[in-house]
Amino acid sequence: MIRVAINGYGTIGKRVADAVSLQDDMKVIGVTKTKPDFEAKIAKKKFDLYVAKNESLELFERAGIEVSGTVEDLIKKADIVIDCSPDKVGAENKKIYEKAGARAIFQGGEKREVAEVSFNAIANYNDAIGKRFVRVVSCNTTALTRVIYHLKKNFKIGRIRATILRRVSDPKEDKKGLTNAIMPDPINLPSHHAKDVKSVLPDIDIVTTAFKLPTTLMHVHSLMIELKEKVTKEDVVSALEREPRIMLLSVEDGFTSTAKIIEYARELRMRYDLYENVLWLESIAIDGSDLFLTQAVHQEAIVVPENIDAIRAIFGIPKEMSIEKTNKTLRIGYI
Ligand code: NAD
Repeated sequence: MIRVAINGYGTIGKRVADAVSLQDDMKVIGVTKTKPDFEAKIAKKKFDLYVAKNESLELFERAGIEVSGTVEDLIKKADIVIDCSPDKVGAENKKIYEKAGARAIFQGGEKREVAEVSFNAIANYNDAIGKRFVRVVSCNTTALTRVIYHLKKNFKIGRIRATILRRVSDPKEDKKGLTNAIMPDPINLPSHHAKDVKSVLPDIDIVTTAFKLPTTLMHVHSLMIELKEKVTKEDVVSALEREPRIMLLSVEDGFTSTAKIIEYARELRMRYDLYENVLWLESIAIDGSDLFLTQAVHQEAIVVPENIDAIRAIFGIPKEMSIEKTNKTLRIGYI
């Protein structure tokens, strides 16, 4: 049984903790919080609660919330730490992990240099085997990598151009937003996503542009891929529909926007979490030697299965065994 510590219990941390709890070969031995807020109170009902920073001990004591210790105490009991702290904080936390001799998984908000390998289960699982520090790439990079990996595996492809329409913040945010504007992010080309995809799929030619939009539900990607052989739409559909982590949905069934996709997910899943790339069937089109497709990405959930597989990769469990188990427990591919 792999003993997992979750350092940072926010959007990603709480989801990874629940996903770990569904596995029969790993268990959550504790989670950390910085503030004694409602999230800390709920966390304590499910898991042993620790403080992420020593200075938080007093806050929790004053709030009357008993904790089991500090993050250092938690790490001592763990086989691996999943760092789900905010962007760039993971690099700071790494010092604690190094000092304790711990293994750790970081998230996409960290620079690539934080870990020995940037990880996507389908594309480069084996690169993480036996590693001590692994970084699960971001939500956008995860979705781009999955679809590009399968296209590259099945067809001869050339240059890839992708436009990323980013949700401005997660639904819970009340400190940042974009009420009535579309923001090029960044204005200069390319956006960082292309480089990040190449950290897992080094041999591809990709340029990405990105924009922030006033929505919280999902990101949307519009991709154009050069085909270097004759391929039909049916070929593309049949290559992608074999991958459980890609869900093909149709406008004909009423999926006219991200709003409808999320409404569907509300019926389907806990916390309406969609771990899959959601690809519109009608958007798959071939014009001359260019393949076009459009996909939606549930940013809060898509990296959750990748974190579970990253844990198993570090402990040397074979790729297919891990992915199959993760898919089954999270009901990926079961609609
Ligand atoms: P979040 O703000 O929802 O959660 C972060 C949690 O970490 C909060 O509970 C915060 O109190 C806590 N924290 C603050 N300082 C800490 C410290 N020093 N040590 C431990 N915990 C600390 O953030 P999130 O959206 O869950 O993002 C976490 C990571 O996952 C980031 O790297 C982010 O880029 C990445 N990520 C986020 C998304 C997304 O859409 N939310 C998607 C994929 C990847």
